[in-house]
Amino acid sequence: MPRTIHIIGAGLAGLAAAVALTKRGQRVVLHEATTFAGGRCRSYHDAALDMTIDNGNHLLLSANRAALAFLRDIGAAHRLPLPPQAAFHFIDLESRERWTLRMNAGRLPWWIFDSARRVPGTRALDYLKLAPLLFPPARKPIGEVIGCSGPLYDRLVQPVLLAALNIAPPLGSAKLAGAVIRETLAAGGAACRPLIAREGLGTTLIEPALAYLAQQQAEVRLGHQLHALRFANGRVAALDFGTESIELAQNDAVVLAVPPYAATALVPDLEAPNEFRAIVNAHFRIEPPPGQPPILGVINATTEWIFAFAGRLSVTVSAGDRLIDTPREMLARTIWDEVKAATGLSAALPPWQIVRERRATFAATPAQDARRPGTGTRWRNLVLAGDWTDTGLPATIEGAIRSGNRAAELVAQS
Ligand SMILES: Cc1cc2nc3c(=O)[nH]c(=O)nc-3n(C[C@H](O)[C@H](O)[C@H](O)COP(=O)(O)OP(=O)(O)OC[C@H]3O[C@@H](n4cnc5c(N)ncnc54)[C@H](O)[C@@H]3O)c2cc1C
Repeated sequence: MPRTIHIIGAGLAGLAAAVALTKRGQRVVLHEATTFAGGRCRSYHDAALDMTIDNGNHLLLSANRAALAFLRDIGAAHRLPLPPQAAFHFIDLESRERWTLRMNAGRLPWWIFDSARRVPGTRALDYLKLAPLLFPPARKPIGEVIGCSGPLYDRLVQPVLLAALNIAPPLGSAKLAGAVIRETLAAGGAACRPLIAREGLGTTLIEPALAYLAQQQAEVRLGHQLHALRFANGRVAALDFGTESIELAQNDAVVLAVPPYAATALVPDLEAPNEFRAIVNAHFRIEPPPGQPPILGVINATTEWIFAFAGRLSVTVSAGDRLIDTPREMLARTIWDEVKAATGLSAALPPWQIVRERRATFAATPAQDARRPGTGTRWRNLVLAGDWTDTGLPATIEGAIRSGNRAAELVAQS
């Protein structure tokens, strides 16, 4: 009898594992607790705005090779077109200065020697001071590896690392920051071209993955929450879904692709990250002004990045835990005032929505990073996937997809 691989969790890690396994001809059943796939990377119809929005703005970079391969596999690469160059627009709301960082494509960063391309107020030498982050000592926070002050830090390093690690950079893991910098900034502009799902995360990443899986005869069971794993003789023997229990055949396997707090409740003695950081997004239903860049970095404001979509401006605030208890309307008004200042719009507060993801990512500190488990477990037919497993990257789409691929590889070899 052909084996069945049960994948628990239809976030990007679970979807990537499912796609990779069906590509290898394995029979897959994907079980998802909620009524939708995508997990923390999803679109939904928002009643307040009366439009479909993403739970939060997601940025990919051309360096994200696993994410791009996943898009190719599911036939959706065209939905995430590559811009011709790595250009990042910024405004400092305190000084009202605007600039555009323009990286050259190659690895040799001659853009840092060109004052028209680099961050205003910085010198080429400042960039070289980031070198210790490329191969940092183990278990050190960023604040102990580089100086966290000055124009280059305030205007580039802080916003980039805050967005990538979702934690105040001085506290973040230098190892994870180093991995990000090696794969992106240090790899040159060709690796840093920004990719935004302009038609939404659902249309770009999730629906094509589900369509691909349907085509491959994979079974996707939504609203099917795993309540417990039943272990016997060093393996998972059954999956307990409450009203239904599935006995596993001898060579069946399980990919557990749920968030860490769900995984630790299902797997005995599993050590995993247990501290999290929030991400807050504010969405405004309004047409962006002509010439508004797809993404604008904002310095010296609560607003960190403004994403422009057709009929909507959406703002991201990373490590947004300090904003979790702020009254929603107050937050919307504060952010809207900043959006007006940054975009030149003058309209009164348009229809808005605030989405606060409390456990958006694990806290990317050295201590939390050290709690990330590998893919394999002590049970023969159980592997782990998820952005929180030990991918070497912070909690990102790229990390989630790589973890799913690795889980699929391990299962396929077993
Ligand atoms: C607001 C926000 C903005 C972000 N921005 C970016 C960005 O710009 N760039 C980037 O690369 N990354 C970004 N991320 C991170 C990215 O979204 C995540 O790293 C990625 O989506 C994680 O995927 P995952 O599959 O590991 O986990 P999840 O998406 O959490 O998937 C886990 C799935 O398991 C399901 N599940 C849980 N328990 C059970 C159970 N018992 N039985 C069955 N199913 C279960 C859940 O419902 C969920 O669908 C952002 C995240 C957020 C929240």
